[in-house]
Amino acid sequence: MELTTTTATRPGTTLRAVEPAWAHQVRADQELLADIGYAVAGPFHVLYPQQFEQNVRAFNGALDAAGVDGRVYYGKKANKSSCWLSACLDAGAGVDVASAPELVDALGGGVRGEDLVVTGAAKSTELLWLAARHRSLIAVDALDELDRLIDVAHSVGNVRVLLRVLPQENPNSRFGLNPAELDQALDRLVKERERVTTEGFSFHLNGYAVAPRASLAAELVDRCLAARARGLVADSISIGGGFAVSYVDAAAWQEFTQSYQDSWFHSDKTFTHFYPYHQAPVGAQMLTAILDSPADAGYATVAAKFAGTGTRLLLEPGRALLDGAGFTAFPVQGFKPRGDYGIITVSGLSMSVSEQWKGSEYLPDPILWSPKRPSTGEDDPVSACVGGASCMEYDMLTWRKVRFPRSPRSGDLLIYPNSAGYQMDKNETEFHQLPLPSRVALSRKEGRFRWKLIR
Ligand SMILES: *Cc1c(COP(=O)(O)O)cnc(C)c1O
Repeated sequence: MELTTTTATRPGTTLRAVEPAWAHQVRADQELLADIGYAVAGPFHVLYPQQFEQNVRAFNGALDAAGVDGRVYYGKKANKSSCWLSACLDAGAGVDVASAPELVDALGGGVRGEDLVVTGAAKSTELLWLAARHRSLIAVDALDELDRLIDVAHSVGNVRVLLRVLPQENPNSRFGLNPAELDQALDRLVKERERVTTEGFSFHLNGYAVAPRASLAAELVDRCLAARARGLVADSISIGGGFAVSYVDAAAWQEFTQSYQDSWFHSDKTFTHFYPYHQAPVGAQMLTAILDSPADAGYATVAAKFAGTGTRLLLEPGRALLDGAGFTAFPVQGFKPRGDYGIITVSGLSMSVSEQWKGSEYLPDPILWSPKRPSTGEDDPVSACVGGASCMEYDMLTWRKVRFPRSPRSGDLLIYPNSAGYQMDKNETEFHQLPLPSRVALSRKEGRFRWKLIR
């Protein structure tokens, strides 16, 4: 008995993504996506390195504005595409790698070894050796790893290290060195000064909170000063990644989380939590908030403590550098009505939308796109969930019954917005021997988008 259907009367069906202008412009182009879809004949990721560069520059701007010397390293695991590497070169960022293949890929993309930081807790000896050969900065995670690295230094020559700290904030983390281990590591490093350059300390915290990052950063400056007093270089602190991203606006997110019901989802699926799709502060503003936080003993802010002690601040954002830098298009295969909603099936798998596998759902609304065609006069809005092309009941890209302006049909594209950070390749698979989504990098010259297939 609904005469008019607005989103207000259908809570939960709409959670529109906040997107940069380029993404709207690409969808407004009648030919671009249709041509790409025709050429690749399957799902595809669209990547926009110019947005990534702008994000790097915003972080650099936050460091400059605070008067802090430092460096941004792109956390490569957040998206493996090659195009971000040249964007890092253009914008003056280094790269954070965690495996030998990531390191080799970064070198192949033109990043110099000295511009790499090697994090990741489980470093093979091959990775330590390669990193040492290329003069990369190595964040040491364990005492036995330090032993192996010192062995490597005996054959390769001087190596550069940070010591990764086990944060009090995350006492159960399996990563990092506790205070007793840090003391032992430092004793060892004082003896190995010729072979190992101790550049400082690092951490990486779960979650997106400003305060624990600010206080641990400030505390580690004191660790640096103590290490310098023992003859070590100790002039740098890496505060890791975990810079927040906002996918939807505050009001939409508040409405969603306050009125959430299982009935909004296909088969009444119950979610125990969702990824936080709205956050503040985000990206470079979150860095500014860390730098502006109060420090201790004689320094008004964290920034003042870094600047006043000649300490460099390194950071390793992954997701935040990819904010707004890509989306994913799945060809619609079909649409099946099911009572008061429908099921869209797309070419592609839910493993290409990774938050599913953290027990969350990627919540920003997928967008129905089609090349311009005459209206059939049957364009009634529908609610629909989205299933992947596998034989698994749980292969759902979207369990939520999302409102679409009309029934999707074969030939349309379903676009998942803002998917460059982790969604694209964290859990992708060739299940059913289906090929992985193609990757297309866009650039804009003289007002026109050009596209090319990339790795
Ligand atoms: C994953 C990771 C990052 C990047 O994290 P984001 O949340 O994507 O910013 C940075 N540093 C380390 C050590 C990591 O493990």
